[in-house]
Amino acid sequence: MGITEKLQKIKDEIPDYVNLIAVSKTKPAADILEAYEAGQRMFGENKARETQGKHDELPKDIDWHFIGHLQRNKVKYIAPFVKLIHSLDSLRLAKEINKRAKKENRVIPCLIQLHISGEETKFGFDVPEAMEFLSSEPFTEMKNIEIAGSMGMALHTDDTSVLKKQFSMLRKFHEELQTQFPTAKNLSMGMTNDYRVAIDEGSNMIRLGSSIFGERNYDK
Ligand SMILES: *Cc1c(COP(=O)(O)O)cnc(C)c1O
Repeated sequence: MGITEKLQKIKDEIPDYVNLIAVSKTKPAADILEAYEAGQRMFGENKARETQGKHDELPKDIDWHFIGHLQRNKVKYIAPFVKLIHSLDSLRLAKEINKRAKKENRVIPCLIQLHISGEETKFGFDVPEAMEFLSSEPFTEMKNIEIAGSMGMALHTDDTSVLKKQFSMLRKFHEELQTQFPTAKNLSMGMTNDYRVAIDEGSNMIRLGSSIFGERNYDK
């Protein structure tokens, strides 16, 4: 099956309200164009310079989503055009995004990335940290960031009960977030291995890479 067929199969399977982000990290422009020609407009990348290069080269009506850990010194490369940053995970990063967005005369929509997998090494706020961040004075003064929802990555496991628990924790956080921020509409959860469980648990935005473009040669 080619990219076009794989995309179609996934789109037929998921509900209409679920936004599909095609995760094209490490993949060449030709693959992205094939998906584009099949109607796909939302693409996810996790390296700022790579995102910038692809943005420059490819059709301008593509929405570029930044889905990986974002280093502060790289924000400037994506600030002019990024549609949604899925990985807001610290006050320091928020300050930089706000600064660069202001320079570009933009408000950049961001998702609060929550650490749900229980692993030591993964990025994201835990719930108390996120609440503290959202109510902190420096954040409340930022005018160029919009809180657009929540994002999380579950443990890489086939154990559905673990996935359910982690996704439902994120959904609860998300519902709480929405009471404070009416703009927080996106619940970004679910990847190739776990998107069906994520949709069952309330996801409305899934990030799929290998199920569309095939395995990556190197990961992350
Ligand atoms: C790579 C990546 C994905 C896509 O992973 P697949 O398993 O290939 O679907 C989704 N989200 C994030 C944050 C990623 O880094």
